[in-house]
Amino acid sequence: MPYSFDGTAALKVRPGAVVFPRTSEEVAACVKLAREAHIAVVTRGSGTGLSGGSVPSPGCLVVCLVQMDQILEVDEKNLTMRAQCGVITKEIDDAAAKVGLFYPPDPGSMKISTIGGNVAENSGGLRGLKYGVTRDYVMGIQVVLPDGTLTWLGNKCVKDVAGYSMKDLFIGSEGTLGIITEVLIKLLPRPVARKTMLALYDRMESAAETISAIIAAKIIPCTLEFLDRTTVQCVEDYAKIGLPTDVEALVLMETDGHPVVVQEEAEQMMQLARQHGAREVRAAADEAEGAKLASARRNAFSALARVMPTTILEDVTVPRTELAHMVGFIRECAIRHNLKVGTFGHLGDGNLHPTFLTNERDHEEMHRVEAALEEIVNETLRLGGTVTGEHGVGLAKKAFVRRQLGDGSYELMKSIKRALDPQCLLNPGKIFDL
Ligand SMILES: Cc1cc2nc3c(=O)[nH]c(=O)nc-3n(C[C@H](O)[C@H](O)[C@H](O)COP(=O)(O)OP(=O)(O)OC[C@H]3O[C@@H](n4cnc5c(N)ncnc54)[C@H](O)[C@@H]3O)c2cc1C
Repeated sequence: MPYSFDGTAALKVRPGAVVFPRTSEEVAACVKLAREAHIAVVTRGSGTGLSGGSVPSPGCLVVCLVQMDQILEVDEKNLTMRAQCGVITKEIDDAAAKVGLFYPPDPGSMKISTIGGNVAENSGGLRGLKYGVTRDYVMGIQVVLPDGTLTWLGNKCVKDVAGYSMKDLFIGSEGTLGIITEVLIKLLPRPVARKTMLALYDRMESAAETISAIIAAKIIPCTLEFLDRTTVQCVEDYAKIGLPTDVEALVLMETDGHPVVVQEEAEQMMQLARQHGAREVRAAADEAEGAKLASARRNAFSALARVMPTTILEDVTVPRTELAHMVGFIRECAIRHNLKVGTFGHLGDGNLHPTFLTNERDHEEMHRVEAALEEIVNETLRLGGTVTGEHGVGLAKKAFVRRQLGDGSYELMKSIKRALDPQCLLNPGKIFDL
């Protein structure tokens, strides 16, 4: 039963069996057996996915990788780490921190998600604006192919143009092309200073203008995150951080790096926030207070999820210039369909998470949620955006992919799947139907 679902609402299928391999060779053996028996294989990390990627197909074999949890090497001379795919994301960064190094991608789920799941989804995080996403840190992967072959793609070289970049094909492939068993990742020197600030606004437009002004001032903060009024109210109710609950928007800003630069950028950002109408700007005095302020954003999803039995989290991304319009559109759409929605997201990346607070047993309301989601997707595509910025397609976004990509790109993707996995053994029915 616990392996019938992931973090996505309203998707549940019982698997035939669940196995917990400890080594890459055991994973390869599982795939070979499943292939001989014509049984589908659904790979699973921690099951925190938000697009149904690790939801089983009926009667399939779930290969759950959480017991492959060993960090195999920290190479301080080459600034790399090699780890088994089931290592928890936060443990990767904790191990790097012990030697003064840094693994930047920090999805909100980093205390539970696996590094293999992060690579399979090409996950983003709160520091994505400055540091990029998981793909930017993957130097190599060991992968089990659909025929059971175990192979390495990539290496420790900073430069390598020998042939196609095969590892890149597997990053973000959502368990449909191969099972990632080991990951070789790039690490950075750990920033010595960090400053965390919160800006509170009475108008959403002022928050969006601040973001544009910060980027226009040629500052790339590591974090520019946003919470709307409903989300702030839920977070305050849940985490008691001391936030005013009558604000229209809260922006979390973080800069890191050399202490002098951090100080200068923090002052500039606070000034820009005030100039663009922030009602109040708070700066953390130290790391502990910074973590407390940042927890307003880190708790957003959990705080919203407490309100109603079903939480449907969207993941649309638009060009940054369209953010204020998109937030307004979502709010207006929710009012028109008489739905409760809290929106938060990575404002600096244009990535919004409108979160519908609903009840899957209320069929009439679920129809209204579906209608609202369809409108949000249509508006996103009209603005040149994407239906998923970081959570992946899985089952949740399957209906929209062809419309976004166009026929050429969509068919190319399917032909790659057919070439690598002609039996459609791995994660069938995810991203597209063959
Ligand atoms: C509270 C919360 C906050 C979140 N915040 C973020 C966020 O900020 N940014 C973000 O990008 N996502 C976020 N997510 C979504 C999710 O945590 C990520 O997609 C994460 O990378 C999934 O990791 P996992 O180990 O749970 O993988 P799973 O959910 O188990 O699997 C995800 C997909 O990857 C495949 N897969 C898993 N492991 C492997 C492997 N070793 N080889 C091949 N395929 C594999 C699965 O088949 C599935 O398709 C959040 C989720 C929650 C619940």
